[in-house]
Amino acid sequence: MDKQQLEMRFPLISNMQNKEEIIWFNPNKINSKDALKNVSVTAEMVQEASDRLDRFASYLSIAFPETAQAKGIIESPLVKIPTMESALKEFFQTDFNGELLLKCDNALPISGSIKARGGIYEVLKIAEQLAIREGLLKETDDYAILSTDDFRQFFSAYSVAVGSTGNLGLSIGIISAKFGFQVTVHMSSDAKQWKKEMLRSKGVTVVEYEDDYSIAVMEGRKQAVEDSTCFFIDDENSVDLFVGYAVAASRLKAQLEQMQIIVDAQHPLFVYLPCGVGGGPGGVAFGLKLIFGDHVHCFFAEPTSSPCMLLGLMTGLHENISVADIGLDNKTDADGLAVGRPSGFVGKTLEQLISGSFTINDKTLYELLGLLADTENVRLEPSALAGMTGPIHITKQGVPIQNATHIVWATGGGMVPSQEMQIYYEKGKQYLLK
Ligand SMILES: *Cc1c(COP(=O)(O)O)cnc(C)c1O
Repeated sequence: MDKQQLEMRFPLISNMQNKEEIIWFNPNKINSKDALKNVSVTAEMVQEASDRLDRFASYLSIAFPETAQAKGIIESPLVKIPTMESALKEFFQTDFNGELLLKCDNALPISGSIKARGGIYEVLKIAEQLAIREGLLKETDDYAILSTDDFRQFFSAYSVAVGSTGNLGLSIGIISAKFGFQVTVHMSSDAKQWKKEMLRSKGVTVVEYEDDYSIAVMEGRKQAVEDSTCFFIDDENSVDLFVGYAVAASRLKAQLEQMQIIVDAQHPLFVYLPCGVGGGPGGVAFGLKLIFGDHVHCFFAEPTSSPCMLLGLMTGLHENISVADIGLDNKTDADGLAVGRPSGFVGKTLEQLISGSFTINDKTLYELLGLLADTENVRLEPSALAGMTGPIHITKQGVPIQNATHIVWATGGGMVPSQEMQIYYEKGKQYLLK
């Protein structure tokens, strides 16, 4: 299909080219039971990830004392945001049914973003497999022993590499360095200075590239292939990352029960997930579909300049199409979401499960950032606000909803230095005053 044929077949592309904030409803969605039969990821794989995270809890509570109170379980709060809910309705002059909640992954321990789920999980798995292979560890051991100098010495013979301009690099860098791995983060040179400095301060090697992110990833992958002691974290294709993210769903279920929030046929759950390459939001959505089936409706949220997952899903072309192919520049302040080409693995896994996808421009992201800070005193990075317009979109489109719960997944912000955060906030206030 050439560009002209694509535009004919998918009229929404012309709205995307105009950078309009749009929503796409997935016509390929089927009932979740049947959809789940058509994919390679299983409930058992997610359970295995959950069990592995439990085995590591005693290690994590020692290595990262901020997790000690939660006994080494890396989890974030789920909170009601009624003041923001009112402000949001007023701002968009749109009333919506149901209660608005925020899933605060910005407050996840260790790395302050959703990457503290999948990213950390994948490194834990690497460490476990190495230690077991060498006969140094059994699954029944207390994993606290992994924090000893002997183990750090052992892990220092291996290396971990990742290509990332942002939160994935931080997450992988921090946890890998803690184990004692040699760790290299390949970054594009436009990555934020504070991120490079923070990583270097933890002993991480940061390699910068003049070209863009995809070149950085390719370079990282190449180096790992040549070296059998090097493990490359593949943001685009990793099943381990994906299942690590998916564990969020069972945790969320427990939180909803604790808050006495019902999810069933009469009480639907809507979840809005900021999407970059797709692993984080895709993994979480997948986990939610496993647990809540047809009672949960998951939507991806992307910048108007980088709607790669929407484009891949809508056209069915997945990783074989990029936003550049429809003339978009992939330029946005939403760092975590500036991705031009989606993960094919994630797109194919979610293509019959996801309810839809919508877009948001940078101005709206900043306005919502300012509003959330003023109403609820929660400060997020721009990417993490992308889901906030979800309830507005579906209401404006006339989706019939009753007794709904809306969860906006706040994917990051916890690592952003306060001066940087202040700049974001002031930008938001400026837009709001105009
Ligand atoms: C990485 C990231 C996302 C999206 O996750 P992907 O796996 O890239 O789709 C969303 N928000 C923030 C803050 C992120 O760092």
